[in-house]
Amino acid sequence: MNYQNSQYQNSLAYAQHQDQQDPLANYREQFCHPVINGKQVLYFTGNSLGLMPQAARENINNELDEWANWGVEGHFHAKNPWVSYHETLTPQTAGIVGANESEVVCMGSLTNNLHLLFVSFYQPTAKRFKIISEAKMFPSDRYLLETQVRHHGFDIDEAIIEVAPREGEQLIREQDIIDVINANADEVALVFFGGVNYFTGQVFDMQKLTEVAHSVGALAGFDLAHAAGNIPMQLHDWNVDFAAWCTYKYINSSAGNTAALFVHDKHGNNTDINRFGGWWGHNKERRFLMENSFEPMTGAEGWQISNAPVMGMAVLKASLDIFHEVGMEKLREKSVKLTGFLEFVFNDIVNQFPHISLEIITPSNPDKRGCQLSIKLVGTDKTFFNALTEAGIIADFRQPDVVRMAPTPLYNNFEDVYRMGVTLKQLLATWK
Ligand SMILES: *Cc1c(COP(=O)(O)O)cnc(C)c1O
Repeated sequence: MNYQNSQYQNSLAYAQHQDQQDPLANYREQFCHPVINGKQVLYFTGNSLGLMPQAARENINNELDEWANWGVEGHFHAKNPWVSYHETLTPQTAGIVGANESEVVCMGSLTNNLHLLFVSFYQPTAKRFKIISEAKMFPSDRYLLETQVRHHGFDIDEAIIEVAPREGEQLIREQDIIDVINANADEVALVFFGGVNYFTGQVFDMQKLTEVAHSVGALAGFDLAHAAGNIPMQLHDWNVDFAAWCTYKYINSSAGNTAALFVHDKHGNNTDINRFGGWWGHNKERRFLMENSFEPMTGAEGWQISNAPVMGMAVLKASLDIFHEVGMEKLREKSVKLTGFLEFVFNDIVNQFPHISLEIITPSNPDKRGCQLSIKLVGTDKTFFNALTEAGIIADFRQPDVVRMAPTPLYNNFEDVYRMGVTLKQLLATWK
């Protein structure tokens, strides 16, 4: 993982040479690259919405044909019968997050899934009711916490403890999180963090936080929206209690598509755990007998509510098949190099223009970040981001002052990064 910065060169020849040697280079062609206003853009927003895998169209057309040909019979007679379609996504999904197949299921949407998991894993008592979390969470997660806390009749300010970066710092110190957990040892019900913070790109030590949470008698859950498909994880071995993630960011499944969740086997095998039920989580041998009395399946599938949306899953399958073929290890290897290259090129150029300060706030240690770099605009504002977009660099802006850029290893290459640098340089040279 220790890729030497000194190996990088900010030149087209170097970038092209890296691309020639890249074992994943051919995957670029398996994705559709946007052309906006007649110009092929440099797409660095896989952290927000992944690009479309070419195979998505074929997969969805296949399912439309099945529907046209079979109608309701497609549930049992389609090539991938719809009644069990979600099961075809399980092995790949488990591979992405380091789980047993029994521990994951593709279903629902991210925030919805988290609410369902909180029903099971946030069961506060008068004494143990606090949730320890990161400051400046993604708003949906914050609303999740607030409404869950209120639902159980607790006071938001008392129950939600946020750990923030120290004064003048951008990143949260892990020791500070641990100290806060220990300081509230008897009152913490849940430690809930993003695996990767959406704003700064900081990776949290999920294994460590889980261990500390357990040591005080609390559970640990994670929102992996920015981690899944980005960094390798071992959720099972790390003993994480539960997690959920969307699939439209690094997993390239299209806007708002079916998400996924993880429940550790130690909980999944316990069908007595309280949960909200629906027929798809019911004993599948008896699902169609239409009986009373909910009898949850074991494993993550026991948290399912509704029958699976096959059209969306067909798209998700196109992407998961690619992940399965590549594997998180090779993906990560390229990701570390490519992100390091972006950091190098960016700093090389920004240093030539001292009148404007663009500061990368994402950790410089590759072990503490995925492929996203967050850039704080100092002495300028969103107009600079707008100018980047105009110039064909698709990044994204997060209030109040951060631009996020993610060179994703599946479809970005070294030349993209080099060309971004050229454009950035032109822009800075004329920027006042
Ligand atoms: C993208 C993202 C979400 C989005 O939630 P949806 O339920 O999919 O709309 C939530 N939380 C985090 C941390 C995210 O990055």
